Amino acid sequence: MSETAQTLRARAEIDLGALRANVRALRGRVGTDVQVMGVVKADAYGHGAVPCARAALEAGATWLGTATPHEALALRAAGIDAPVLCWLWTPGGPWDEGIRAGLDMTVSGLWALREVTEAARRTAQPARVQLKADTGLGRNGCQPADWSRLVGEALAAQGEGLLRVTGLWSHFACADEPGHPSIGAQLETFQEMLEAAEKAGVDPEVRHMANSPATLTLPQTHFDLVRPGIAMYGVSPSPEVGTPADFGLRPVMRLLGSVALVKDVPSGHGVSYGHHYVTDRPTTLGLVPLGYADGIPRHASGRGPVLVGGKVRTVAGRVAMDQFVVDLGGDAVEPGAQAVLFGAGDHGEPTAEDWARAADTIAYEIVTRIGSRVPRVYLNE
Ligand SMILES: *Cc1c(COP(=O)(O)O)cnc(C)c1O
Repeated sequence: MSETAQTLRARAEIDLGALRANVRALRGRVGTDVQVMGVVKADAYGHGAVPCARAALEAGATWLGTATPHEALALRAAGIDAPVLCWLWTPGGPWDEGIRAGLDMTVSGLWALREVTEAARRTAQPARVQLKADTGLGRNGCQPADWSRLVGEALAAQGEGLLRVTGLWSHFACADEPGHPSIGAQLETFQEMLEAAEKAGVDPEVRHMANSPATLTLPQTHFDLVRPGIAMYGVSPSPEVGTPADFGLRPVMRLLGSVALVKDVPSGHGVSYGHHYVTDRPTTLGLVPLGYADGIPRHASGRGPVLVGGKVRTVAGRVAMDQFVVDLGGDAVEPGAQAVLFGAGDHGEPTAEDWARAADTIAYEIVTRIGSRVPRVYLNE
């Protein structure tokens, strides 16, 4: 790894070997009859979409998933030609570009079906369309009461050669809360909606429902394909589901900063904006050059854990835009020493889950919000 000036201040190391191993572990869990879609939305949860998409495919994922069409088109622009499903469309598309790029385009309602059909007429090319069912999440997707009309109009367009219905799918609300009663109810509704669509004449390539927690804990939800995101990055969907190690998964991202200053201060010295931390003895302070502009949650002020000089310290006072302080308690730490905010956790460093607890959020948000000012350094390419 090259230590360029840019990566000296801070860097997020992305272990693509760990990502490939995680994909293989997930494939082992679902068996050979079930395909794996690597979800790489939001710049692969902050890990870098293109390198992570390539690594996932190398390890046997056969599909990729994104939220927006622009994320999917960026994969195509990088030369990735694997099947890509994207699910968050707004009026205006870009449907024509999606058709030309051979994307699988999710349709949850009649407005989208009409726009994609018009685009197929314009481009004189059939669209690949996956119909999304709202089986209880109450977010995107088609309500059961509206399903037969959506399916019927999609089949009519398919009959005209304007599209092919390639998939039927849905998404869980509470798969990360083992035993939640909505899980069984959603599964039952999905089975009914599948049956209705197939009876009407849909013959999909893939039927799918499982996100990471369902992939890990609910084999009855795997159908033809699973859509893991967070698990592929070696992070647990929730503490209730288990730790990454429980499932043979290893965290992919390690976030480091280089200590920028170490100085002695007297007792009674306030630290950082608002003086929410005041030294209770003469001590030494270490400055870590990462802040909320880099995605370090300000909400973890006074709480976030950092490994510096062989010990886990706690953020002293507020996280600022570009930096925060730790109390080193007189320990011998030199400027340039590594401050590890989170990583795999097996070298004494905190994990993204630890930061999530400190910031009252989920580990998804911790890794995904690491900002563009932090260079990603790829290991084991
Ligand atoms: C984000 C997302 C996923 C992946 O969810 P994880 O919990 O990260 O596995 C799967 N499907 C859809 C529709 C999503 O939006």
